[in-house]
Amino acid sequence: MTIELEQLDPETCDSCGLCCEGIGSPVLIYQTHRNHIGPHPFRPEGLPQPLINEIDETFGGLYRGQEPQERCLWFDPERRRCRHYEWRPQICRDYELGGTACLIRREEERANRQ
Ligand code: SF4
Ligand code: SF4
Repeated sequence: MTIELEQLDPETCDSCGLCCEGIGSPVLIYQTHRNHIGPHPFRPEGLPQPLINEIDETFGGLYRGQEPQERCLWFDPERRRCRHYEWRPQICRDYELGGTACLIRREEERANRQ
């Protein structure tokens, strides 16, 4: 699929999603730990059970960094966006649109395509 980066407005992530690829799946931190007691340290309250089940079934006890790195489990490569944006982990919220890492990532992609 071709990414039309030149169509991207600097103020939007629409159809980009570059920072959701090549970093594994941040949502792995939401998985269920058998030996864990008390509230989950990372899982947001109200996270739908089907999403938890999908994460548990996909990662099956892997630690962060052991999961496939190609793209996040929640990334929709066709629409190039997060499938559950409202539930994204804090690390995804901290990644600043238009920040240094974002601009470098987008510039790298532009350069690769020239
Ligand atoms: S934060 Fe930057 S790299 Fe990530 S999806 Fe948005 S525009 Fe793309
Ligand atoms: S949770 Fe969503 S925003 Fe975060 S890396 Fe995965 S697809 Fe991207």
